[in-house]
Amino acid sequence: MPDRRASSAESLERRVSVLLPLPLAGAYDYKVPGDLDVTIGDFVAVPLGKRKLAGIVWGEATGDVASAKLKFIAERLDVPPMMEELRRLVEWVANYTLSPAGAVLRMAMSVPDALEPPRALAAYQLSDSGRALLARENPSLTKARLRVLRVAAEGAAAPAQDLARRAACGSGVVRALAAAGLLVPVDLPRRVPPASPDFKHAGPALSPPQADAAGVLAAQVEHGGFSVTLLDGVTGSGKTEVYFAAIAACLARGKQALVLLPEIALSTQWLARFAARFGAPPALWHSELGHALRRDTWRDVALGRAQVVVGARSALFLPFPDLGLIVVDEEQDLSYKQEDGVVYHARDMAVVRGSIAKLPVILVSATPSLETLANVEQGRYRRLHLQARFGDARLPEIRIVDMRRNPPERQRFLSPPLVAALEATLQSGEQAMLFLNRRGYAPLTLCRACGHRLECPNCTAWLVEHRLLGQLQCHHCGHAEPLPALCPNCGEAKSFVPCGPGIERLSEEMAQRFPGARLGVMASDTLTGPHAAEEFVRAVEARQIDVLIGTQVMAKGHHFPFLTLVGVVDADLGLEGGDLRAAERTFQLLNQVAGRAGREERPGTVYVQTWMPENGVIAALISHDRDRFLALEAESRKTHGLPPFGRLAAVILSAPDDESADFTARAFARAAPHLPGVETLGPAPAPLRVLRGRHRRRFLVKTRRDVNLQAVLRGWLGRVKAPNNVRVQVDVDPYSFL
Ligand code: ADP
Ligand code: ZN
Repeated sequence: MPDRRASSAESLERRVSVLLPLPLAGAYDYKVPGDLDVTIGDFVAVPLGKRKLAGIVWGEATGDVASAKLKFIAERLDVPPMMEELRRLVEWVANYTLSPAGAVLRMAMSVPDALEPPRALAAYQLSDSGRALLARENPSLTKARLRVLRVAAEGAAAPAQDLARRAACGSGVVRALAAAGLLVPVDLPRRVPPASPDFKHAGPALSPPQADAAGVLAAQVEHGGFSVTLLDGVTGSGKTEVYFAAIAACLARGKQALVLLPEIALSTQWLARFAARFGAPPALWHSELGHALRRDTWRDVALGRAQVVVGARSALFLPFPDLGLIVVDEEQDLSYKQEDGVVYHARDMAVVRGSIAKLPVILVSATPSLETLANVEQGRYRRLHLQARFGDARLPEIRIVDMRRNPPERQRFLSPPLVAALEATLQSGEQAMLFLNRRGYAPLTLCRACGHRLECPNCTAWLVEHRLLGQLQCHHCGHAEPLPALCPNCGEAKSFVPCGPGIERLSEEMAQRFPGARLGVMASDTLTGPHAAEEFVRAVEARQIDVLIGTQVMAKGHHFPFLTLVGVVDADLGLEGGDLRAAERTFQLLNQVAGRAGREERPGTVYVQTWMPENGVIAALISHDRDRFLALEAESRKTHGLPPFGRLAAVILSAPDDESADFTARAFARAAPHLPGVETLGPAPAPLRVLRGRHRRRFLVKTRRDVNLQAVLRGWLGRVKAPNNVRVQVDVDPYSFL
């Protein structure tokens, strides 16, 4: 009898499953206290071991654990529930990437304390007695106290630290005055909510082709519903203005808009344009923002106060309650692929969010990816095309410099034709840009006496000399060390020589050749933080820099009217990698770099230094014949069944030593799938055979498009177990093959 009572009590008790933002977890069941009302999507705090964690009510309970073993939800948190569309996105991404749902949820709950209501800020203002005292002729107070009271009398209530700073004393003085009743504490709202972008703000008059494209996009936003449109237009055609019109239409409907941008921390020109267009800045979202700002922004988004968010890929997982549009600018950009943790592609997942939430997605590019073009071809995406640059600007002329016929002098890297062009540009007072996608001084350093190369102790990679920092660095793991005084192999002193150029070495050559020119170096490690980038851009705009020397961070989006010459120092560099997308990627990057030249009335010229001028990528670039190049590229992918015409996934094993890597790889090979339409390649040592001290082996699974790749992978990984010290990483749609 007691048993039956217990079970009927159990059946009355409500249980739910709660998903926690933990990388190794699915949802756990919890009991709901009788007086707590929770629904699916609610943020709740639950006990886990000795901790209390925030999670989300994910569904009804799944297990049949005895009631006594289950814990109660501690409380419901005071934030709007996570909407179904975001919960479904989390599950979709988890399924697609073979990641635990908790790991994906973690990206959607990346600022845990945003779940707590913001605390008011304690501030102090002058009390009546303080005011009375100050009005006296000779108040009997220390000088510091008097200064604080005077500062407090000047303006509104301020935090203790502010008053103390302005009165040049410690904040103890402020607290003492408060204790004496001369200052009174008041609560300030911690911040004013951000201003809203205004869709009624007038934009520029659009050219007829721009207006057509903008009209189509605005109509899609107005009708709502899922659609994907590729906004395809040459560099400088005004794509940004066109999608701004779609954002205006979205704001007019009272909905939120999300814009994904690569290198958001460096996009000062874009932000200025947005603010000029809409009268207020957008909300920003990227990893370099301070914690407090991220917390505020997350809440602003969740409460619908942030109307336009511009961000890096992780902005895709923000809790918009009323999203009406997603724009992915530079949709072909590699930085949309996240390579660690949950390995996902933000452009693709943006399309998924659009389809779940039934809203339009705009992909923007001057050199769309083959993936996107294949979707256009198959009728899944619509394409809008802007064929010409805006206004009188023409596309730059591209000149090939055949390095076999025009070699630079020994230990130099600029060919005579490029040097002559630089000279002419500098003389006319215009600006030039030299592009080399290599940070540091030299990519390789070796001993002249014995040929020893300096290698990273943790990775299969050469150390790169960074002369400005006086360091050797590994670009894969971040290891840094000073240049050794003696060769560690032969003991020779001062025997190291740099091989090949990095941008520091290029800028050294420029300084020698053009002592009067003002040089500016732009790379991800020379521009640290958004302010450095802002200042750099401002200096270029103010024409305080004559020659910009930089890596790909310089290639993105910038618009400098006086920049008329672009020199591509080593066009062949990207072609060396030999991976699936090497040619496509090189074409995209070179086109983007070339696109910086001649963006207004002054015509631009691009010099492309290459040792293989007959290469298809280079030939397509000169003739601005993107479509022919892409057609050839697509043809070869189709023949080999490679993406976007087939599916691809990588499985990477990494072990503490070579033996266990090989041992596990053999076990995986034995369990590999043998199914129609599925091909498993490997195991092979990864090109980066050792990375951060881990020994790595790679498999590639290639399937037909109609095969469920995830099911194949799940089956395989379910048949074989790796030892605890071997990590198994799955990369669906891999972009990196290192
Ligand atoms: P894209 O993004 O296609 O490279 P942008 O949107 O940056 O092109 O436009 C290139 C330049 O032309 C920018 O300086 C932009 O302000 C200007 N521009 C484009 N369209 C217009 C327009 N309709 N009216 C005035 N200026 C425009
Ligand atoms: Zn390393």
